[in-house]
Amino acid sequence: MIPHKIIRGIVLRIFYPFLMFLGAFFKSKKEGFQRIIIDMNNRLVRAEGLRTKKILLLLPHCLQINECDIRLTHNIYNCERCGRCEIRDLIEIADEHKLNLFVATGGTIARKIVKEIRPEAIVAVACERDLSSGLVDTYPIPIIGISNERPYGPCFNTIVDLKKVKEAIHFFGGA
Ligand code: SF4
Repeated sequence: MIPHKIIRGIVLRIFYPFLMFLGAFFKSKKEGFQRIIIDMNNRLVRAEGLRTKKILLLLPHCLQINECDIRLTHNIYNCERCGRCEIRDLIEIADEHKLNLFVATGGTIARKIVKEIRPEAIVAVACERDLSSGLVDTYPIPIIGISNERPYGPCFNTIVDLKKVKEAIHFFGGA
């Protein structure tokens, strides 16, 4: 039987570019295609069944509420934990599970963080576009990708289902 990790590589390195090629012609379907890739990736990562405590929790900048001008990119612990956005809750979750926690403003910074931290598994929150391309960039590291919710449109005061974040951490075996 072909190992799940190899199938994940085929999905990310062959099927993903193919779907993005199709997405160039069917623009309205592109986000749906990215969701398919994230879904397939998550299923395959779960099937691989890796357990580790070396987990990185990677968040998008847009989870920080717009009215807060504290700079979180280099140190999320600059957050004063006022509770106006979910950054406070996510810090609590990371502390509780002793995870590495970072905010990334884009793919380049995300890649740099991954290179420095060298996690064995990643729980990543982002929009479908950033998540799907991030999965490809960081393969073969197993990532569970969780799409953010965008009630005010893209990149602005986004939110994430904290239950899904906790579940993904528990899946990997976060203490
Ligand atoms: S919890 Fe408060 S201090 Fe922290 S990032 Fe959100 S708004 Fe800023």
